[in-house]
Formats: sequence, C-alpha cells, structure tokens
Amino acid sequence: MAADLRDPVRSALDAVLGTVREVHGGAVASYIPELAKADPDALGVALVSTRGMLHDAGDAGAEFTIQSVSKPFAFALAVDTFGIDEVTKHVGLEPSGEPFNAISLEPATGRPLNPMINAGAIVITSLLGGPDADADAKAAVVRTGLERFAGRDLVLAQDVYASEASTGDRNRALAYLTRSAGTLGATAEIATDAYFRQCSLLVTARDLAIMAATLANGGVNPVSGERVVGKDAARWTTAVMTSCGMYDASGTWLVHVGLPAKSGVGGGIVALQPGQFGIGTFSPPLDAQGNSVRGVAMLQELSTRFDLHMLEHRGAQLSPIASLERSDVGGETVAVLRGDLKFAGAEEVLTRLAPLVGDDGCLVLDFSAVTRVAEGARRVLSGVPERVGLTADGRPRVVIRDPEGVLERRDPA
Ligand code: GLN
Repeated sequence: MAADLRDPVRSALDAVLGTVREVHGGAVASYIPELAKADPDALGVALVSTRGMLHDAGDAGAEFTIQSVSKPFAFALAVDTFGIDEVTKHVGLEPSGEPFNAISLEPATGRPLNPMINAGAIVITSLLGGPDADADAKAAVVRTGLERFAGRDLVLAQDVYASEASTGDRNRALAYLTRSAGTLGATAEIATDAYFRQCSLLVTARDLAIMAATLANGGVNPVSGERVVGKDAARWTTAVMTSCGMYDASGTWLVHVGLPAKSGVGGGIVALQPGQFGIGTFSPPLDAQGNSVRGVAMLQELSTRFDLHMLEHRGAQLSPIASLERSDVGGETVAVLRGDLKFAGAEEVLTRLAPLVGDDGCLVLDFSAVTRVAEGARRVLSGVPERVGLTADGRPRVVIRDPEGVLERRDPA
C-alpha cells in the first residue's frame, strides 16, 4: 500500500510522544477529589491547521475535564459580546506572577489581575449571559460558546462538577471578594456554580486543538467553518494567553516554547500559532504550577523540533519588488510587485522606488502578482498617485496597475 502523504506529520507527533514517555514526575491533581482518579499514563496530542486538517497521536480521543483551559475561550466570548473596554472594568490584563488560585485583587480597582487566574475567570463567567441570568443560563452560554469553538456538543462530567462544588470554597472566597469589590457580575453563588460547570465540561486533545485553531484562525472554526468570535476577540484572547496563560510559569514558557497557551488541572494544554495551527495535549500529572509536566514537555519538543517559537527571526523576507523594468516609451518604469504585502513591504516599495519618480519619468506599480495587501500596507500605499501628482508635461507620476483588485480586497472582520 502506498504511504500516506500525511505520515510525516503523524510520525512526528508519535515521535514527540515517544520522547516524553521518558519524562517522569508531577502528580495528578487531587484537591478536586474526583480528578485524582485520572490515569497518570494517558498521553495524547493533536494538531489542527487553520485550513482544518487534523493530525493526532496517542490518546487524542480520551476525554478529560477542560478545567482552566476553558478560561481563554470564556474570555473570548465575553470580550466579543461586551467589548474589551467593558470587560476590563471588571478584570485586568496584567500577568500576576502568582499561582492560579491566588487571592489577589488590584488594590485600587478591586479587579482580579487577569482572566486566566481563577479570580479573573470567575468574574468573566459572572458577566456571561448578562446580570439577570441565573447559574443555569450562564452555564448554558458558556457551554454553547465552547461547543462552537470545539465544533461538537460537550457533556458535563457530573462527578467532577459535584466534587468541585463540594470542595470549591477557595473559589467561593474569590467570588465573595470580587463581589464585595464590585467587579463580579452576579452573586457569588451563581458565578461559582456556573464556573464549576464550565470547568467540568469533557473534552479531548482533539477538541482542544480545534478550539485553539479557531483562535489561530481569527475566530472562525476551521473545521466547521463557523465564525465563533470576531477577529479582535481572537487577537485579544491570544495576547492574554501569551502573557498569562501558564500562570507563574508564563515568562519561562514564553522563552522556551514561545506559543500562546493555556493549561488546566485536568491535564490539558492548548497552544497556537496565529495563522498556522492549534495544538491540544493531554497528560494528567502536573508540576508545582499546575501545568501538565508531559504537556509542557510535548510543546517544548514540538516548538524546538519544528521551529515554532512565535518570536523566531525568520530571516529576510523576499523583496516585494519582483522586477523593475524601464521601457523606452516615455521614460516609464514598471515595478512588478509580488506576494503578501505588509507594512514593511509597502515601506520598502516606496523607499526604494522614490528616486525613480520625478519630473521626467513615471512609475507603474504593477500589483498583478500581489496575493494580498494587509491593512497596514494599504494605509501606507493609499493615495500615493494623488499625493505625488503630475510630471512637468502633465502625466501622472505614479500609476497603479491592479487587474485583480487586490488593493480593494479587505480581510474579513
Ligand atoms: N476548576 C479548577 C479550579 O478552579 C481550575 C483550575 C485550573 O485548571 N488551573 O480550581
């Protein structure tokens, strides 16, 4: 039988699983008693591209509770519904450098420092569904939203929910504190009940990869094709994951792995590279920060092996000027531009070609080989022919040739 062309990706994921099986240490969470029953040897990984292709290995279909991996998605729903200005009246955007369950509120405003720690996440859940919604209604808004991110129905793990509800006094304390500071959007009982249900939804590594790929894809689920949140909400969420997603390990994580991510005490981690892919990992034993030991190891291995660090210097880009030809007819120079034109590409075009624009020559900017003009490039280029005006004999100094209309084509909002 012929080899499947996708085998290299799958075997790369298999190889990563093989490597991290050698990694030991950590302990399955037990402060929520029901979580202590998790299989410490379960190990899975899934990767979904922003074109909706799925690759997985190991126990990628095994179910576990989403726990804190739900937090960025609930935040995305909140900022998409209420706007970032309204949401940040209730929750800050600063890394706390403290554990996920820290009792910490900004002294001046009473806001939790960020939406990735429990205090901030409980406030986010309290806002969803609006001030009049009860716990059932808020939990339903969260579940429906998370289902759209995952592209399938999600089931509540009743036993984990009951276990967390009966032992969740620290989270109740956080809710009462934020309530008294005026930042909680519901009563403490409603907010924590909805939050416990949010954390107890069952997912797989595959679901997490699709959810992360939805953020990587600007808010559109690449498998179902459904827009779940707007582009702004996806970007804001990815930014908060970058600065706060791994709690008090976020700085080290950013240096060594370099992908926006979020962990949960059920053993899941999501990570993504905007415009490229989402990854979900599953392995229950946790380190001291509450991050999955083997999940961190898998993502570090993937990042190093495949050069995925988001701040990696990718080398000089291909010049956006494919060719420059001077024709004998009227001293006209034709510059053929190419590729995906971003701000720096537009800057290069204008700076390099400026000396060719004068009283005796005119410049044709040919966009026929340009695949996309990013908003920043469009702003730099817009109105250039009008601004540079006419030659001495009345011809336009700059002419735009754009047969496909790429200059007018905007990215979806
Ligand atoms: N439900 C868990 C809690 O509130 C979530 C914590 C986590 O996953 N880090 O304690």
